[in-house]
Amino acid sequence: MKALVLEEKGKLSLRDFNLPRDIGPHDVRIKIHTVGICGSDVHYYTHGKIGPFVVTEPMVLGHEASGDVLEVGAEVAHLKPGDRVCMEPGIPDANSRASKLGIYNVDPAVRFWATPPVHGCLTPEVVHPAAYTFKLPDNVSFAEGAMVEPFAIGMQAAVRARIVPGDVAVVTGAGPIGMMVALAALAGGCARVIISDFSQPKLDIIGNYPGIQTVNLGQTDLPSFVASVTGDWGADVVFECSGAAPAILGLPGLARPGGTIVLVGMPVDPVPVDIVGLQAREVRIETVFRYANVYDRAIELIASGKVDLKPLISDTLSFENAIVAFDRAVAQRPEDVKIQIRVNS
Ligand SMILES: [Zn+2]
Repeated sequence: MKALVLEEKGKLSLRDFNLPRDIGPHDVRIKIHTVGICGSDVHYYTHGKIGPFVVTEPMVLGHEASGDVLEVGAEVAHLKPGDRVCMEPGIPDANSRASKLGIYNVDPAVRFWATPPVHGCLTPEVVHPAAYTFKLPDNVSFAEGAMVEPFAIGMQAAVRARIVPGDVAVVTGAGPIGMMVALAALAGGCARVIISDFSQPKLDIIGNYPGIQTVNLGQTDLPSFVASVTGDWGADVVFECSGAAPAILGLPGLARPGGTIVLVGMPVDPVPVDIVGLQAREVRIETVFRYANVYDRAIELIASGKVDLKPLISDTLSFENAIVAFDRAVAQRPEDVKIQIRVNS
């Protein structure tokens, strides 16, 4: 079966690739419909590694997927052939200590699609555990289903923040994840979200949503702006989504006394942190790594219409054009948020 294979750093090919096709009693076989391209897929393509994860042999890319169930294992009760689904790409060890605690996202044994040495889902068919496969309501499209994975990070950030109704939030960084976090924060009860970036096209896209104010960092000083719109008090919750060192150093200047900071962005290298600035406000710090137990809630919010991710899908290319789609994602056009690949239609 054909797959989009990262042969080595900088080299993609669309070619036949052997993946395990055996279906266990708790698995489902899925015909892949749509796969979104993630920043991590692009990073493996351009750098051949992310932190300790290094591509040493050919690896199939892709982890943001939706599709149709083709076949279910003998013990699967909640899905049947023909169901439209999306998949959670990280599979933990069900017997691990982390899984028992409900924090399976930080299980050291988790196997995550398109993270070496685990293959991804940019191929017409995959076998996946039913427990990590979620039925899509009729009014949620395959394209939206493939957006559940990045939106789940926003959901995790909103959960970790412990948002209280009416909170005012700041999101630093308007990349795809910053946008997802802003929308999840609003859906999770924030009254309004202030989002900052240097890229005006990105701010224009996310600023179209009601409840979101944008700040262009090239023109406006973010701490002064936040102070001016919060009565010199600060934001209840600050979501750091840029991973940029200056943004992280400036976090204490955005949060209110007793507020919360959620670290979502991942700096490539260790960065300085203003500990005393944080202490002086007794800020609570939370961190986010992927997500756990939020897929069903993410799907509910999309189906209810409270979260509309469709404006964030910038373009959809065919499977035959998968390499073109990746090169488009590498180009990082400022007006592109999410590029998707339609594998089967
Ligand atoms: Zn992703």
